[in-house]
Amino acid sequence: MKLEGKSALVVGLGKSGVAAARLLALKGARVVAADDKPAAQLREVLQQLGLSEVRPVAPQSLRDVDLVVVSPGVSPTLRIFIEARAQGLPILGEIELAARYIDEPVLGITGTNGKSTTTALCGHLLKTAGLRVFVGGNLGDALSNRVVEGEPLDATVCELSSYQLETVQSLHCAAATVLNVTPDHLDRYPSLEAYAAAKARIFERQQPGDMAVLNLADARVATMATAPHVARLGFDPRHPRPETQLPPHTVLAGYLKEPRTLHVIAHDLQLRAPTLRGAHNAENALAACLLAYRLGLNPEQMQRGLDSYPGLPHRLERVRLLDGVEWINDSKATNVDSVEKSLASFERNVILIMGGRGKGAPYAPLRKLFAGRVKALLTIGEEGDKIAAELGPATACGELAAAVEKARSLAREGDVVLLSPACASYDQFKNFEERGEQFKQMVLAL
Ligand code: ADP
Repeated sequence: MKLEGKSALVVGLGKSGVAAARLLALKGARVVAADDKPAAQLREVLQQLGLSEVRPVAPQSLRDVDLVVVSPGVSPTLRIFIEARAQGLPILGEIELAARYIDEPVLGITGTNGKSTTTALCGHLLKTAGLRVFVGGNLGDALSNRVVEGEPLDATVCELSSYQLETVQSLHCAAATVLNVTPDHLDRYPSLEAYAAAKARIFERQQPGDMAVLNLADARVATMATAPHVARLGFDPRHPRPETQLPPHTVLAGYLKEPRTLHVIAHDLQLRAPTLRGAHNAENALAACLLAYRLGLNPEQMQRGLDSYPGLPHRLERVRLLDGVEWINDSKATNVDSVEKSLASFERNVILIMGGRGKGAPYAPLRKLFAGRVKALLTIGEEGDKIAAELGPATACGELAAAVEKARSLAREGDVVLLSPACASYDQFKNFEERGEQFKQMVLAL
């Protein structure tokens, strides 16, 4: 794609919009930006990009524009995009823009939960083995920054959200995984099927010799279509029974022999899972190993990476042990399924803090995990009443600080206080990171 001399409108000046603007400028495009945030909030970003004005997110901002680049957080149904389509303007997502300039093999990771952990872990496995890799996408650094940085690499490990996958047209993943599909973002998608279809786009354009890594315990994922002659490697978080039926053209490539033992069949070897809490993390490690296999990592290299992986903040992150009470920050658990996994990692005595902005999924599936395990439920944010109605009794705390105080007064030696919200954070915080950071500060101040 020739960008030189073209005028490109970047819609949304968040992290990926800024990265896209830098990439467009590098490739010789004239960049204009649209964002509805107040100009004062954008001043710094505009300065960084050398832009003097920002346009509103509205059809009139398309004047003199040759193409449009959209950030994943911006809804594709806005009038500006309808008008852009009517004018025949190309509309690209930030990932799509960047993908057009990436030459090294891309390992792509999507799924409702476990994306960031698997992405970071896979990147860590490759780096520990001495490969030069970029790790980013939906997690951390935007993919466009990979292109702007420009140095030659052996691989790019890219976390992809369903929003990002909606707009890809040329991204090609040498190996790709869909970890799982469970109810989430039902405020954006008409159905779970539509959401799953967006995720399945990660397998489009794969070529013979590429790998699709599929979770066999998730029927929706296990049967996702892949291109002809792409190796379909199934992984099973359970110990598979001999009579287990595999989907057509799919091989069993790995499974969890025991909760903490990964069996990677190609190596006919068992690997120790990283020392992260929760069976779901062993599952993530299995997927990360199978992706790394595409780049030829041997078992020793994999084990070295698994043993030295430090984990990510805000995912079952231990904040402190205070008077025999363990305080855990799981702010990244922003949907019901992730809380299910997190809760299952504890046996008993959990004081659970949930709430924030709801995403339309029912909380009732958590009820079965409550008996004998959750000794108190504290709610925060907009969704408090709904959570209490479905999972109560609960104590409505409103603010996170009040919940921390309440938890402190309830907790006895041996208890676990777990912030695992099952909700987005946007009603009270900028994002899940800010929610997690504030929780940590409050807990460390106790
Ligand atoms: P994502 O990037 O997809 O949101 P993360 O790796 O950041 O995933 O994990 C977010 C939360 O999801 C974790 O705190 C944990 O509760 C849950 N989780 C992680 N891995 C899995 C998995 N494989 N299956 C289900 N839930 C998971």
